[in-house]
Amino acid sequence: MARIKDESVEVVKATADIVALVEGYTRLRKSGARFVGLCPFHQEKTPSFGVSPDRGSFKCFGCGEGGDAIAFVEKLENLDFVGAIEFLADRFNVPLEYEESSPEQDRQRRQRERLFALLEQATSFYERHLWDSPRGEAARSYLESRGLGEEVCRDYRLGLAPGGATLAGKAREKGFTAQELGAAGLVNRRGNDYFNGRLLFPLADARGRVRGFQARKLREDDPLRAKYVNSPEGELFRKGD
Ligand SMILES: [Zn+2]
Repeated sequence: MARIKDESVEVVKATADIVALVEGYTRLRKSGARFVGLCPFHQEKTPSFGVSPDRGSFKCFGCGEGGDAIAFVEKLENLDFVGAIEFLADRFNVPLEYEESSPEQDRQRRQRERLFALLEQATSFYERHLWDSPRGEAARSYLESRGLGEEVCRDYRLGLAPGGATLAGKAREKGFTAQELGAAGLVNRRGNDYFNGRLLFPLADARGRVRGFQARKLREDDPLRAKYVNSPEGELFRKGD
């Protein structure tokens, strides 16, 4: 799958004139630093739709639609991000450059997506174990004793690792390989779950995707000695990030 170079996306963002763009859909009238007009997203008789060329954004106070030029095109033309960039590039005569992608790069990207999916499913699994299993009781009491209410714990998607090969077994049933479990930092060399009876704090990136966990010891017989350990470093998880 072709990917537009980031530099090209930046040029499109800088070049797209949101007033000229919107005027292709509705008539605008200048009002101070803004432009106002009838909203192209909903039926109205008096204008509640405004465009701010300084901010490069639009906003409708009638229906609540708002965003930048890309969002405008995505919504009105029903396009995804790449489609919207291509539309704007065409409209404002910006030549686009695409990343070359080899079959090997495509394979690597698919593999990373599988690891993200695996970590997402593991996070849900650990959450369920914390909240819905009898073995979660001790961990729930611990959280309560630390003044951490259920709502905030659920917001941060805290979980509990059962240990053994419980997670590994479930993931294998769902078609994930031992190699993928290792690459996601979820199993040890012997193929058992890496985390054992630990309270887990998912570590997510800017896009909200879980990349690893920080794990707090709850039991004295924990084979990982340290009070806190992180996921082992792997393809998606590096401590420096
Ligand atoms: Zn509207």
